[in-house]
Parts: sequence; C-alpha cells; structure tokens
Amino acid sequence: MDPLKEHTIPFTGLKDGSHAFTFQLGADFFAAVGDEAFEGGEVDVQVRLDKTSTMLVTNIHVEGPVRVHCDHCDALMDLVLKGDQRQIFQLHGDPDQDDDELVTLDPAAHSINLTHYIYECLRLALPARKVHPAGQCDPEVEKVLGNLTVEQEHAPDPRWDALKQLKTKRP
Ligand SMILES: [Zn+2]
Repeated sequence: MDPLKEHTIPFTGLKDGSHAFTFQLGADFFAAVGDEAFEGGEVDVQVRLDKTSTMLVTNIHVEGPVRVHCDHCDALMDLVLKGDQRQIFQLHGDPDQDDDELVTLDPAAHSINLTHYIYECLRLALPARKVHPAGQCDPEVEKVLGNLTVEQEHAPDPRWDALKQLKTKRP
C-alpha cells in the first residue's frame, strides 16, 4: 500500500504537547489500500498526537460507513465502523525492541505517515462476520440459499455453484 501524502505529519516543527489532526477517507484511500474487503466508504479519522522529546504517541479514531460485501448474499452493504488504535513512535531507541504498537523512527526522520496505521485501525474494526440485518439480503440469492444456513463460510458449498449460475444469467 502506498502511503498517502495527506497522512504525512511533519513533527520536527511541532511543539511538545497535544496536537489534533482530522482526515477523511474516501475513494482515493480505498483505491490505495487495494483491499478486496472494502468497496469504498466515507470515514472520518481523528488523530491525537502527543509529542514529547523522546516519542510521539498517536491515538487514531476511525468512524463512518464502509461499503462491504455481505457474507451471506454477497450484495453490497454499508456498515458503520468505529475503532481506536494507539501507535507509538520512538524518536531515539533500539529498533530491536519494536513491537506492534511501538516503532522506532530513523534518527533522520522528520515526519511520520499514518496511512498504514489508519488502515490497520479500520481493518481491526471490521467484524468477523458482515451480514445484512435480517430480511435485507438479496431476495434472489435468499431463494437459492433456501432456508439453510451456511455453517462454515470457507467450506466449499455446492449451493454457491447454483448461485453463480443465477448471477451469470442476470442481464
Ligand atoms: Zn446479505
């Protein structure tokens, strides 16, 4: 994923203390991440950055609708996601001590880019199973699936072949 320019925060000019940033995620963002799970969305991002002489602590908050495929009928649906993630950037330190939450910056770095971390925050906010509210799935697909429930999403299921045929028949 290419980092987006608008998510770059030059920190050398920032005073120690708390700083707030806001971003809007739209078509450009979802095209850049290239994740099949997302067909689009309009997500607000709020970042609070606390700067000290040794580190930058960022608290990322994402909130807004994303367009995803329903796990049951595969039709598109809007799902409102809400999530928080903290990411710490250490200005001086040992990169060997890095973990998921802590990243040691290159001593020559003068900015951080948050595209990857914003994406991670959004991905983690996505529920394991995304389905329409009861009764709102694609009625044609419902007909094919009948009253049976797909117990194992990843197991091959002969009903999907019937479903594919139905889809190719559509104009
Ligand atoms: Zn559905």
